[in-house]
Amino acid sequence: MDEGRKQRIIIVGGGTAGWMAAAALARFTDRAITLVESEAIGTVGVGEATIPQLRLFNAGLGIDEAEFLRETRGSFKLGIEFAGWSCDSSRYMHAFGSVGQGAGLLPFHQYWLRAHASGIAEELGRYSLNETAARAGKMQIWRPSPGAQAPDMPWAYHFDAGLYAAYLRRYCDARGVTRVEGTVSRAEKSPDGGTLTGILLDDGTSISGDYFIDCSGFRALLIEGALGSELEDWSQWLPCNRAVAVPCAGTGEFTPYTRSTATRAGWRWRIPLQHRIGNGHVYCSSFMSDDEAAANLLDNLDGAALDEPRVLRFTTGMRRTQWSGNCLALGLAAGFMEPLESTSIHLVQSAIARFLGMLPGSVPQPALIDEFNRQASFEWTSIRDFLILPYHANGRVGEPFWDACRAAEVPETLQRKIGQFRAAGFVHREYEELFTDAGWVQVMIGQGIWPDHWHPIADTVPESDLAAMMTVLEQRHVQTAAKMSDHAPFLRAYCAPAVSP
Ligand code: FAD
Repeated sequence: MDEGRKQRIIIVGGGTAGWMAAAALARFTDRAITLVESEAIGTVGVGEATIPQLRLFNAGLGIDEAEFLRETRGSFKLGIEFAGWSCDSSRYMHAFGSVGQGAGLLPFHQYWLRAHASGIAEELGRYSLNETAARAGKMQIWRPSPGAQAPDMPWAYHFDAGLYAAYLRRYCDARGVTRVEGTVSRAEKSPDGGTLTGILLDDGTSISGDYFIDCSGFRALLIEGALGSELEDWSQWLPCNRAVAVPCAGTGEFTPYTRSTATRAGWRWRIPLQHRIGNGHVYCSSFMSDDEAAANLLDNLDGAALDEPRVLRFTTGMRRTQWSGNCLALGLAAGFMEPLESTSIHLVQSAIARFLGMLPGSVPQPALIDEFNRQASFEWTSIRDFLILPYHANGRVGEPFWDACRAAEVPETLQRKIGQFRAAGFVHREYEELFTDAGWVQVMIGQGIWPDHWHPIADTVPESDLAAMMTVLEQRHVQTAAKMSDHAPFLRAYCAPAVSP
């Protein structure tokens, strides 16, 4: 690279991943950034539920939350409800934030297990403020104030993916990112084939660069097409391979949570936005046809469909090498695990943060690339295990898809987690694992995995004290939630543009 010339980073793809990468690079580096996208190809057009970490990403970019929600027609999300994953009437929530409050040496759930067995505790979700508020349809944001401790209630968002990409595009326009409309036909490589030197568009335009970010979606044009990094196929554990999606009019409840409802061979999502509800049905094509999946989705909409149902095909898995030579894969080009826990956009964000932390010099550094890929692999596999759990521990006996999910062997890492929980309610979160202990406990219990015993220290608390502890915690959440606003008016007021005096 010429001394004095800015390093050129070329991003291929203008979906959520491409624009998130462009925005972060424009904000945090002095590189010359070019993003190539093809209107003719378009984006995947789904990916509308998130986890709380996205707030950090937006805040890092200096994005105002109210403006972001206004521009993306977004809503608040306090967790995910799992309906029907044990039997048709079963319901539990994986809510963000803590559940109960530990005491002494033990986490809360150990006391709760004993209290529940003695009949002096409510369902686990009653000790989560997020779940209590979500079920009551409430939302509130507390700003830190001197001397007052704000309740711990983390939130995430639902948003319109197309509007988020457009919003970030405007952000990038204002920060000097060059956007090129065109279709990439091929990549050019160095003589040894290990790095990329440029891309060629359909119209003959050639764009050269120093680093390349493949955000081309399922096509994985650069990372797989040019550099041959393969997908590690995880279908034996995460067997759903299709989704049908359709937006509908928002006539039903405006829930501050995502709903995931199990069906005969998969599950449906319901994501309420300001202007519509996003709906989809994720399913396994060996057990359900596209027509049946679409019919099931259309039969369960809150309001009139606003478009034709659209079928998407995918293979679950992780790209073995996500950073190869001078090319980083992000988003669907890096792999896809299915949307049950809304983790894909988070994986884009965490890969961007990791890449920025190892910000490449003029020459790719193999030691950093190896470390990046090692961390990515750990992150992806630990999320994968969490996603497998509700499939594996489903209670839908007698339905072929669900019977097959229960019978399938799970990765050894997940077996260990389940074994430890069954033995003594033990949950161990390894370094940098995304999901918290509270998340694991909620899904284990929600899916009917009960420990053989709780920790013996929980037996040292007198039963009357235990009962009082449960009542105080539960009532505190009920009272806090009662003081909050309803989700819709809260959002309206929060998003209202400031009126100048
Ligand atoms: P895309 O949106 O597909 O963008 C690819 C871009 O590359 C487009 O701009 C396209 O035009 C461009 N491109 C492709 N080929 C070329 C070419 N030859 N030349 C030029 N440009 C090209 N994630 C979540 O976090 N939460 C969710 O709730 C969620 N739900 C999902 C549901 C489903 C059914 C699916 C499939 C995914 C879901 N995801 C979810 C994942 C999420 O949609 C993606 O992680 C996110 O949208 C990023 O997509 P992307 O930018 O990688 O790909």
